[in-house]
Amino acid sequence: MPDGMIKILPPFVAERIAAGEVVERPASVVKELIENSLDARAGRIEVELEAGGKSLVRVTDDGIGMTPEDAVACFKRHATSKIDRFEDLELIRTYGFRGEALPSIGAVSRVRLLTRFRDRDRGTEVVYEGGRLLRQGEAGAPVGTDVVVRDLFYNVPARRKFLKTDTGERAACVDIVARMALARPETAFHLLADGKTVLALPPADGHRRVLDYFGKSSRGGERIEYESPGVGAVRGVIWHPNVLHRPNRRGILVYVNGRPVDDRLVVDSVTGACRGITPIQRFPQAVIFLDLPGPRVDVNVHPAKFLVKYADEGAVRRLVKAGVARALSEAGVDLTAAMPLATGEPGRPLDRRPYPSSGRREAYEPDDVPFGEGPGASDREPMGPLPRSPLPEGQMSFSTEAALPLYEDAPWEVRGQFAETFVLVEYADRLLVIDQHAAHERVIYEELARYDESGFVPSQELLLPPRVELSAAEAGRVSEHLELLVKYGFRVETAGASAFRIMAVPEFVEAGEEERIAVEVMSELARIGDDAPLAQRRHLTRSAIACKAAVKAGERLTREDMLSLVRRLLASPNKSTCPHGRPTTAELSESQVRRWFRRS
Ligand code: ADP
Ligand code: MG
Repeated sequence: MPDGMIKILPPFVAERIAAGEVVERPASVVKELIENSLDARAGRIEVELEAGGKSLVRVTDDGIGMTPEDAVACFKRHATSKIDRFEDLELIRTYGFRGEALPSIGAVSRVRLLTRFRDRDRGTEVVYEGGRLLRQGEAGAPVGTDVVVRDLFYNVPARRKFLKTDTGERAACVDIVARMALARPETAFHLLADGKTVLALPPADGHRRVLDYFGKSSRGGERIEYESPGVGAVRGVIWHPNVLHRPNRRGILVYVNGRPVDDRLVVDSVTGACRGITPIQRFPQAVIFLDLPGPRVDVNVHPAKFLVKYADEGAVRRLVKAGVARALSEAGVDLTAAMPLATGEPGRPLDRRPYPSSGRREAYEPDDVPFGEGPGASDREPMGPLPRSPLPEGQMSFSTEAALPLYEDAPWEVRGQFAETFVLVEYADRLLVIDQHAAHERVIYEELARYDESGFVPSQELLLPPRVELSAAEAGRVSEHLELLVKYGFRVETAGASAFRIMAVPEFVEAGEEERIAVEVMSELARIGDDAPLAQRRHLTRSAIACKAAVKAGERLTREDMLSLVRRLLASPNKSTCPHGRPTTAELSESQVRRWFRRS
């Protein structure tokens, strides 16, 4: 038997391990430092980055500052001025309370802290490196705190290796600054990256900040203001999900008691409330500020405080759904196609007042740099609802269109899915059987066609553009069609003799599907002759994209997917056939079915 194998880790090893839970990447440093500045009641916060924050993160505030004693003490683990007793956790209204950020950051970087407490006339400078105090002394400084963090993970190479490119890390930093800025509109934020101003936000009211965050396409959001006594309140903005929608859930931002959180429960409640009105495979855009009394939420379940736990999940879900549904129905969005809303505790609308809670405000001269480079700023107009069209004569005797004036607003109801291939719809006295693939193809095809005369299909850049190999013959022929692909939202660059790099795909392409769809579309295009007239090449390109991106036969659809598919199909031109000419819809009348059973 050897001696005991358990050892107590030397403190500097333990420090670095603990640091890993709080500080994962430059954006975590940015978040923690901003939280400290907000807790110090800053009226203005400046953030500076170099190399995506890898070589420098600097956060400067005009908050209350620290005394010389505190400027040293704050690097000790579990040193916090924010709570004294465990019970205080329930009432916590500051961002920090764990006393871990500065020690964690100090363990894995070189930090210089310069601070002056508001009623002192001298400041303090502290230099802390790799977990050790190197220097402390008096220094001239304005009231407030200035933290400079250099060379993050210089002593943890394994961590450094996992960081993304400067651009990737920078994007994450910008995103967290913007998300914090949304929570605290009364505070001015200024963000400089590699010497260039990226964000310049003067103090504003909450609604204004939200609009700035999402950029131009965001006009027309509806305010959410709702309260359920005993549960809490929900405020924020929801956009009409049938007009503005996104390819993923990242357009739904959630805050709990002013804290940005990644909270699936609330996100799902929002998507749930918009079910049936958001197009298939799309997600609403919303900002949700939940205000829950302390005992109803636990913010201390994750070191980076990105997760929360609710005492009563059902109540939170009902509160959010009710708030969203009310905002939309008041704005005239027809929710009848939506899933029935769970009826919750009796709720009531809130008085109009700014959200999130207003804090102190300070005079600040706004720079006139727009919020332009912020996240979401690259959003272009979404594919909106399609124009309705008079019905062309159906070519197929089996098609519904010859007989039925199908308009979007005629009453219909999805009755289910059959064989995981067909959607069954009851429409007046008929049962429609819709081929899900053919129908989705038509819908996508027509949406692409809307951009034929003007503009480009909105696309999403891929963070890690995949490289794909085609056969030499295919590659040669595809190259002729790259320009058309751009029009329809694919940006493909050559990356070798017969290789390509997929830089961007249309927005509606689902995460994880980008490479498959791009490759299949390219092989499809390789079959088009380059002598074909433009109109025909467009038609073939649109058909190829529609075919590859549409749901397949054999895929189970949610009710939400089916409602959205039917809704879009009914609004689509040429809805009776898919782009290849196969029927999308067949029908049975009630009298036909009655005759089967000799009931007529
Ligand atoms: P926490 O925020 O959880 O208390 P931190 O390690 O982030 O822990 O900070 C430790 C303490 O240092 C804070 O409680 C606060 O007293 C002080 N502090 C940190 N940053 C600032 C700042 N920007 N302005 C004033 N005080 C600060
Ligand atoms: Mg903190």
